[in-house]
Amino acid sequence: MAAFETLQECVRCIYDATIPRISFDADGVCCYCRQYEEMECDYPAGAAGRDILAATVAQMKQDGRGRQYDVVIGVSGGCDSSYMLHLAKKQYGLRVLAAHFDNTYNSRIAVENIQRILEALDIDLYTHVVDNEEYQRIYRSFFLASVPEIDTPTDIALAAVHYMAAAKHGVKWIWEGHSFRTEGISPPGWFYMDSKYVRTIHSKYGDGRIRTLPELTLPRWMKWMAVDKIRKFRPLYYFDYDKEGTKRFLADTYGWQWYGGHHMENRSAYFANNYYLVRKFGIDLRYSEFSALIRAGQLTRSHAVARIAEQKPFDEGILAEIKQRVGFSDAEWERVMCAPLSHYTRHRTYKQTFERLRPLFLMLYKMGYVTRSFYHKYCVLKDDQMVAIRPSCYLRQPSGATASEPAAESVA
Ligand SMILES: [Zn+2]
Repeated sequence: MAAFETLQECVRCIYDATIPRISFDADGVCCYCRQYEEMECDYPAGAAGRDILAATVAQMKQDGRGRQYDVVIGVSGGCDSSYMLHLAKKQYGLRVLAAHFDNTYNSRIAVENIQRILEALDIDLYTHVVDNEEYQRIYRSFFLASVPEIDTPTDIALAAVHYMAAAKHGVKWIWEGHSFRTEGISPPGWFYMDSKYVRTIHSKYGDGRIRTLPELTLPRWMKWMAVDKIRKFRPLYYFDYDKEGTKRFLADTYGWQWYGGHHMENRSAYFANNYYLVRKFGIDLRYSEFSALIRAGQLTRSHAVARIAEQKPFDEGILAEIKQRVGFSDAEWERVMCAPLSHYTRHRTYKQTFERLRPLFLMLYKMGYVTRSFYHKYCVLKDDQMVAIRPSCYLRQPSGATASEPAAESVA
């Protein structure tokens, strides 16, 4: 594609015209950098951020009166969730229940990190392990569907397990480890996830049976929000979260170990980020991560440009493990990697329901039950806008895959 030579790039971050829904202002700054500036105002760091954190923690303690715990925190063994445990317990004196979903692909380092920190901080753990064979069958369905969201069954289950832990113990708050300053927000159009999507894909491409994978169906989710009154909070939004410094702190304090990359504490996440998304879909999540770090002043643009040119490391042993566990021969795997790309808009999901329920979700967002990014991506942006931008998210020519035309039909 000769057009690559003249692609417009943001003068501040490393996003260019292949990023879905991007636009540039007169100064050459992209809309995602401007969105970051707005978020910095809405979620201030410094003294204002400390005040918000302190007030929210006070509310959590009040809501936790007469109960065993004040807050549920999901743990993966990664840097963000490990640091949140420290923050909640040591700095704010909250009574924490950790929650973990085991998708059978935990790395050894992740398991050790979780054990070390929970033990040192004396925090209880709620854990849910999916049936191994069931998970491999669902995983296989997502590969056969040729959609990029192979980690969606895990991502949905993670969210559901946090609610399950909170509902079981009457906890009113869940902390989420996302930081827009260090992680960025993936552009709408890269990924989609909801529980109905998981059901649809597994029914179309597998046996459709889901027994032990936690689901976040709309009725369940509404019950957790409206009846159990479980709210979400993202503490890392309210201070200048220095990721490198945090890793050193966790290593020195708890013997925590770095596993070599964002979300790499889990082998299936590593596989998606370092192999599947890059090679089949041309999606490299480092664009989003590095751009966020540039905006936050934690990485220079020239460093990011140099680092993005390096090929992502990949351990071939993980590919062999996944093929063996999911049950793909070499020839079948070759077909998976070369199959025409599909997109969530070709499958039944909750997306149009979320759009119809936009006023309800606006209220839920304002009350702290759903995040702003959920409300914007799932309720405000229309499905047809996603279809319209779809081809551009695959513009970074992936190796071996053939881009297909966007779906003509709309799926309810
Ligand atoms: Zn930018």
